[in-house]
Amino acid sequence: MATFIVLLGPPGVGKGTQAKILAETTNLAHISSGDLFRENLKNQTELGKLAKSYMDKGELVPDDVTISMIRDRLSRADCETGAILDGFPRTPAQADALEKMLTGFKGKVDYVPFITAAKDILVERASGRWTCREQGHIYHQKFNPPQKVGICDIDGSELYQRDDDKVETVSKRIKVYLDQTMPLVEYYRQKGVLVEIDGSQPVDQVTENLLAALKK
Ligand code: AMP
Repeated sequence: MATFIVLLGPPGVGKGTQAKILAETTNLAHISSGDLFRENLKNQTELGKLAKSYMDKGELVPDDVTISMIRDRLSRADCETGAILDGFPRTPAQADALEKMLTGFKGKVDYVPFITAAKDILVERASGRWTCREQGHIYHQKFNPPQKVGICDIDGSELYQRDDDKVETVSKRIKVYLDQTMPLVEYYRQKGVLVEIDGSQPVDQVTENLLAALKK
């Protein structure tokens, strides 16, 4: 049976960083809704243009387009054994839609690591973040700098600062998270799949705690 892990937590807490590490460790596909929107934006698709208008304001892209993008992604062969979902679901409607999609895989959401940290840490992490243009590898100017300024250690592509990682937009994204995504914490707690992880620690420590929690 397939295994599905949903990473839940505020913007800037390190979901993307941990999702990439977990995907390598577990061999499951990594599905990041934010990366999918950014890829569409880079390829100038209609979806990308639509998403940009919401992303620039720090708001959520409407549920219908987001859900159908994830449905398409989950139908690809690399998801047959499961996936790590990073940034999706972000609303109760998305969580319901995901549950229905996964019945098609005879699967369900198995684990939901809920990664948290205080607001000042989130703002500092997101606003110092540098992202790789090619594959979305994540760096931080202070906590995890690349070996060469502006260049991804892994694939050599350019690093850029996301428009929505500016301090004002990060604060707006945190507010949107509190209003629209926080209800999912209770939703998954009720289902008995929520695992709380302290995201304020260094990357390696968070990974260690995450893997230990998943092994249990
Ligand atoms: P992220 O890379 O996860 O921080 O997402 C960046 C932006 O993409 C968000 O601020 C939203 O505008 C949009 N986005 C990503 N995932 C979702 C989602 N599940 N639902 C709606 N909008 C999303």
